[in-house]
Amino acid sequence: MKVVFSTRAFAAILAETTEKIKTETGGLFLGKYKDGIWYVVEAIDPGPKSVFEVAYFEYDRAYTQHLIRKTANLYASKLELIGLWHRHPGSFDIFSSTDDETNAKYAKLNEHGAISGLVNIDPDFRLTMYHVDKPCRYSKIKYEVGDELFPAGLLALKKPDDFKALMKKLSTYKGFDMQQTEKQRKHACLASFMKMISPYLDSYACMNAISESDMDEQKSKDRLIELLLDDLIFFADEAGMEVTVAQHGKYAAVSQNTTEGTTRLYFAYSEKDDQGVFEYGGKNYFYKAGLFKELFTKAVNEKQPDKNAGAAHTNGGGALNGWLKFLTGIKNGETDDE
Ligand SMILES: [Zn+2]
Repeated sequence: MKVVFSTRAFAAILAETTEKIKTETGGLFLGKYKDGIWYVVEAIDPGPKSVFEVAYFEYDRAYTQHLIRKTANLYASKLELIGLWHRHPGSFDIFSSTDDETNAKYAKLNEHGAISGLVNIDPDFRLTMYHVDKPCRYSKIKYEVGDELFPAGLLALKKPDDFKALMKKLSTYKGFDMQQTEKQRKHACLASFMKMISPYLDSYACMNAISESDMDEQKSKDRLIELLLDDLIFFADEAGMEVTVAQHGKYAAVSQNTTEGTTRLYFAYSEKDDQGVFEYGGKNYFYKAGLFKELFTKAVNEKQPDKNAGAAHTNGGGALNGWLKFLTGIKNGETDDE
């Protein structure tokens, strides 16, 4: 495992360290984990209201959340918050107990954990990178810098046509009332969908109670819509699943009524945790944009060989077969109603 920084991201760490040479500072990493490599595309500065003391640091949350969204929206591929860095005094290049708490929180965001860097000026600039495994196990890892080390496209910005397509999608998006054909409705059941992805939800389990958002309802709603949009488009366009979304105060409920009953998922946006949370089967899970599509793809890819080999199915195989059949149908154009 290693870290690869874009020249821009690495320059951003150096610039931030230079600017605050007399105090502590830090920042957040936006990028992607792929095949054992953490690609850091952008390093976000901690913001004007950040606090850095010897055993305590806090980023300017409103500022970083804003900048993360703004920056990530520029890129063609989906960037994620993959880690953070901060400076330590002298040659102290291991984590404090406060750091452990923060690192553990970031490790929860991704199934592969997170990366966390420490900068020391002793007397030259020195960066030590760690991989943080869940819940909070550290291993020192190497890093390299260079745009040429990135896989094709990962540093690419969205093209004007991509923006135009997005503008069109968003401006013609009629709330959350998605109409599907009868044929699709028959197949696409939210309850079996959730059953199918549930074995993959464990790493997103959220043990703490959800902290009540300080945001007003309109802001919570906007944030939830932004978070859910990818998966709702996936449900409608690719999975052929009809769901309705309703607003209940600061919560959004995604639900589906079938003859067998109602399946309902509650979503909330936690400003303190800076992420979405949803409830399923009496448990809380963290939610990031596109999570359902990601887990679905994973479930299909992992289970498919079993099916071909004719191996016995575990629980949920029935639902899975239904989905595979359905998806194959889409691919072959059988469910095409036009
Ligand atoms: Zn620290």
